Amino acid sequence: MKIFGLLVFLLVACGVNTREHPANNRLIQPIVWHWEDEFSQVEKDKLILYLTEVTQASFNVLGKYPFQMQFYLHRSKSERESIPWAHTERSEVEAVHFYVNPSFDLSVFRADWTAPHEISHLSIPFLGKANAWFSEGYATYMQLQIMKEMGIYTSKEILERYKMKDNLVKGDFSSETNFVDEAKRLRETYNYPAMYWGSVRFFKTVDRLLQTQEHHSLTQHIKAYQNQNRLKDETLDDVLHSLDAGLKAPIFQKIYQKCCTSPFDEAFD
Ligand SMILES: [Zn+2]
Repeated sequence: MKIFGLLVFLLVACGVNTREHPANNRLIQPIVWHWEDEFSQVEKDKLILYLTEVTQASFNVLGKYPFQMQFYLHRSKSERESIPWAHTERSEVEAVHFYVNPSFDLSVFRADWTAPHEISHLSIPFLGKANAWFSEGYATYMQLQIMKEMGIYTSKEILERYKMKDNLVKGDFSSETNFVDEAKRLRETYNYPAMYWGSVRFFKTVDRLLQTQEHHSLTQHIKAYQNQNRLKDETLDDVLHSLDAGLKAPIFQKIYQKCCTSPFDEAFD
């Protein structure tokens, strides 16, 4: 994290008066903070520092989000985890609810994947429960990309982590049923680790194909997507179509079709 960049971002995020660019309208704060329980000023400062760092890293990796995010902070008594629970709210707003125990050290928050995961969800539209495998695979893939940007993991470490998780869950997928139906079954039977990490294969595959065919990465692709189509798309079909727009040959729709017809061990060849 570049200190100067973080400072500027914090000033904007916290609503301190900053000079407006003459060509722009009013500066829009990227985050609106909602304190749902009692937090001391020291606790608020720690949470603002941490979540602003994750948001800045998410912007660096996935592009600036074209809307304000609402962060709701709830107090948790968990002694095991700094953020034991979090979820997005996607109805009228683009929001994340964080349940936090602020007594944990900042270093414990930084090593946790929850905030990078939830904030990355907001960079694509809400696609409905039927397509949860796509949304969760996406956020699970991106959480490590964001943690790499934060300096928590190296490139080598995240590749090892994708591989290790893939090895853990691949046996949970039947070779008789297509990948999309299998992912839905795993969700219905509460096997979330298999559904999340198995779906990461979709994003590993499209990232590899983009780099080979288009000479840019998936995260670079998402930066352009956020700028052009993020606010227009509503369905998975819209998203797949937008992500394929301008490519030399479709990648996203092609792999998706394979996922609908081929089992896990064949869909991503
Ligand atoms: Zn998620």
